[in-house]
Amino acid sequence: MTTVFPDDPTPLARAAEEHVSLARKVESIVQLPRPAQTRVFVVANQKGGVGKTTTTVNLAAAMAIKGLRILVIDLDPQGNTSTALDIVHTEGTPGVYEALVEGESIGTLVQQCPAHESIQVLPASIDLAGAEIELVSLVARETRLDKALQSYLHEAEQKGERYDYVFIDCPPSLGLLTVNALVAGREVLIPIQCEYYALEGLGQLLRNIELVKAHLNPKLNVTTILLTMYDGRTNLSSGVAAEVRQHFGGTVLTTAIPRSVRISEAPSYQQSVVTYDPSSSGALSYIEAAREIAERASGQKREAQR
Ligand code: ATP
Ligand code: MG
Repeated sequence: MTTVFPDDPTPLARAAEEHVSLARKVESIVQLPRPAQTRVFVVANQKGGVGKTTTTVNLAAAMAIKGLRILVIDLDPQGNTSTALDIVHTEGTPGVYEALVEGESIGTLVQQCPAHESIQVLPASIDLAGAEIELVSLVARETRLDKALQSYLHEAEQKGERYDYVFIDCPPSLGLLTVNALVAGREVLIPIQCEYYALEGLGQLLRNIELVKAHLNPKLNVTTILLTMYDGRTNLSSGVAAEVRQHFGGTVLTTAIPRSVRISEAPSYQQSVVTYDPSSSGALSYIEAAREIAERASGQKREAQR
């Protein structure tokens, strides 16, 4: 590999070199492989502000620009995912509440993302805030999203419009909304912020996932951990990253998402960083993370076929 700064390994030079190398890698991705069947990811961590929404939005956008068909479910009453994808979600807008509580079909509730033809979004409005309590008294309260989603995915497949990936963005809690997501999903993606206290509460999340797996959804697995807001200049970030990799091994994606102002600015323009600033390190990292996720699936398939 050519070295941009051969004799000058200062942190800035190293960062520039890494950026160039990442840009080359990402440029070479023309189309991501389609999975054999729809992969349903639950993006969960009950800790607030760790990058669940940012990850959902940017992985969806990265996969869409690389040729995949995506459904995004905003399961957080804050509706940040809907905002970032430029989806109408003012109070009273039909969305995930109607699917969960009123049993409406998801097909009548999804909206097309204006920036990406191949992303459909099931939005969340503030009405969803009441669902956590309303669900308690409903029949099959934990499995309502699963039922609605399976029926919609089947319907889409029948029409020749099969989704490649579904991303469910969870709220920062372990209540019934998150449980519904864990029952509806097959894979859990946990974003971990490279900050102090990052691992606190993780044990509780993993125990909840095990409970759901034991009683409600045996097919559920934590397949992916993504390090977010990584700042290679600080010992704290690299220390947290090393600890997470030691604990969780190969589940952790090689790509870590850097702390980047462009990533945090993008939602205020109702955009993902992938469209807002495609050559930024944030955009490149999310595309590279998407490639890892997509290629892991084809790797697993090859393993299974042996
Ligand atoms: P909540 O628990 O409230 O749903 P969350 O886990 O979904 O939060 P985000 O909303 O994605 O977290 O991110 C929290 C804040 O951090 C946001 O302001 C977001 O723009 C910012 N942020 C996320 N990732 C990065 C990053 N890599 N670099 C800089 N800022 C980031
Ligand atoms: Mg969020």
